[in-house]
Amino acid sequence: LRRPMVAGNWKMNGNAQLAQELFKKFAAKLHNDAVEVVLCPPTVYLESVRQQMEANKDALNGSIVRMGAQNLSQHDFGAYTGEISGAMLSEVGCRYVIIGHSERRRMYGETSNIVADKFAAAQKHGLTPILCVGESGPAREARRTFEVIAEELDVVIEKNGTMAFDNAIIAYEPLWAVGTGKSATPEQAQEVHAFIRKRLSEVSPFIGENIRILYGGSVTPTNAADLFAQPDVDGGLIGGASLNSTEFLSLCTIAM
Ligand code: 13P
Repeated sequence: LRRPMVAGNWKMNGNAQLAQELFKKFAAKLHNDAVEVVLCPPTVYLESVRQQMEANKDALNGSIVRMGAQNLSQHDFGAYTGEISGAMLSEVGCRYVIIGHSERRRMYGETSNIVADKFAAAQKHGLTPILCVGESGPAREARRTFEVIAEELDVVIEKNGTMAFDNAIIAYEPLWAVGTGKSATPEQAQEVHAFIRKRLSEVSPFIGENIRILYGGSVTPTNAADLFAQPDVDGGLIGGASLNSTEFLSLCTIAM
């Protein structure tokens, strides 16, 4: 019912060659539509990924590989030097865009309000937002995990209306697990995913049942099977391990 998704967030890493390597692996070994694979390279490599997607169309043989961006502007167009609009991302072939990643919230001043505006901008331009939420280490220690996550969700719900999550993906990425090598345990992930699903079910049972909730934070081929096996974990948002084509393909396979 919910097709598992494995999304690779390259962050500010990778190059055109990585795109080539990944598609070589997909073309040789993926051949399965039981998982949806999403590549989120830096913006300047979207075109390389698109070309690879096109060139390997037949060889992919039924696999679902799609493209996402890592960020977008909340504005439609105008004097915003260095920014990229949702319309532009759509035009170059993106289907998804990551919104509210903790690195953007923390290092680039993205408040929950800005995140909510970006969520709206994405949908307006035909992109499906992958909304990242997650608590910091201190917040978890203070037992504020649910509070933080509810707050992050509620701002987006308030600004975008109740049905906005009909076309969205959520990624639970606890800040203490991102890039630390210390993943959440399957139980910790499941607990928060269930909380998120329940919260959205209160908005709409249909959305709660159908929305895909990914786990992100130090996912590797070693810990992925237990994480992905949790009932409310619908795949992963992968950082470091998405830069190694063997590891990434292995994660895609584990998610099937
Ligand atoms: P790591 O997999 O490197 O911990 O990064 C997770 C992440 O932030 C994906 O968006």
